[in-house]
Amino acid sequence: MDTEKIRCLIVGSGPAGYTAAIYAARANLAPVLYQGMEPGGQLTTTTEVENFPGYPEGVTGPELMEDLRRQATRFGADIRFGIVTEVDFSRRPFRLKVDGSKEVEAETVIISTGASARYLGLESENRFRGMGVSACATCDGFFYRNKVVGVVGGGDTACEEASYLATLASKVYLIVRKNYLRASKAMQHRVMNTPNIEVLFEYNVKEILGDDAGVNGALLVHNDGSEKIVAVDGIFLAIGHTPNTSVFKGAVELDAEGYIRTAPGTTHTSVEGVFAAGDVQDTRYRQAITAAGSGCMAAIDCERFLLEEGQ
Ligand code: NDP
Repeated sequence: MDTEKIRCLIVGSGPAGYTAAIYAARANLAPVLYQGMEPGGQLTTTTEVENFPGYPEGVTGPELMEDLRRQATRFGADIRFGIVTEVDFSRRPFRLKVDGSKEVEAETVIISTGASARYLGLESENRFRGMGVSACATCDGFFYRNKVVGVVGGGDTACEEASYLATLASKVYLIVRKNYLRASKAMQHRVMNTPNIEVLFEYNVKEILGDDAGVNGALLVHNDGSEKIVAVDGIFLAIGHTPNTSVFKGAVELDAEGYIRTAPGTTHTSVEGVFAAGDVQDTRYRQAITAAGSGCMAAIDCERFLLEEGQ
């Protein structure tokens, strides 16, 4: 069978990938997009999205992703099921394998495989996901006005999320497994000086408690083995993210945490003709709209790259 030749291959189907597909299709780059492990990306695991511009009444995560997918398809983007399992970026055209067997050649590649929020791995955490368990305060904090929430983690994200939630919720427990915060001094200072944040050092969550209406508490275990229950309406996990870059290791430059390095202000990676957009290269903003914005940038960078090459 002949190897398929693709002008612009997009890997990943979150807001970054779909937006790149919309722009690349409209620029006549005939993009092919492989959706990856989780078609639609992280947003398909959330319920209501109220901060994506253009949806004054809000929209569910799956609906938003379906809208983006349909918009990309309307302009001719070829959206396929499939996981990229191998890449060779050592020379052009780039060679990639899909689902372990199908081989494709691509003139350019846009990587938008995202990052996955880490979870504690509790069964109860899965059960209440979207019903009180969240990994994004910016997305879901609004639902906890005047309620009590717990935030798990002791890094900058956890402190930032706790500070943000403290402006909405009546009380925030910051649950930290060590006896110190790993966050920057400024963030630590902010947390410690916010009256409605209580830091519970040396505690971790053993079980998330609730019923059909959602979360109503958390069973915490202290490092000395003692346990206690706190009443909370929601639990926010802020224990880090893992970028989905294992397949690109050694092919493009990654930072120490495994995120793809891009040239500041652009989506260019260390390999000419390979671009990265969305959470896979963003440790800072991680929003659907910023991912979509960088997907647009990647398509434009890609189009200009091909133009300069005279293709
Ligand atoms: P970090 O890896 O910095 O922190 C993760 C936190 O979660 C740590 O306190 C860690 O504990 C804890 N943790 C990890 N696994 C578990 C577990 N299983 N149970 C309980 N607790 C756990 O991740 P962040 O997302 O906070 O930050 C990532 C990077 O992004 C950092 O470099 C950070 O500085 C940066 N960042 C910068 C911001 C800014 O500048 N405004 C905002 C947000 C992030 P332990 O300490 O024990 O390992």
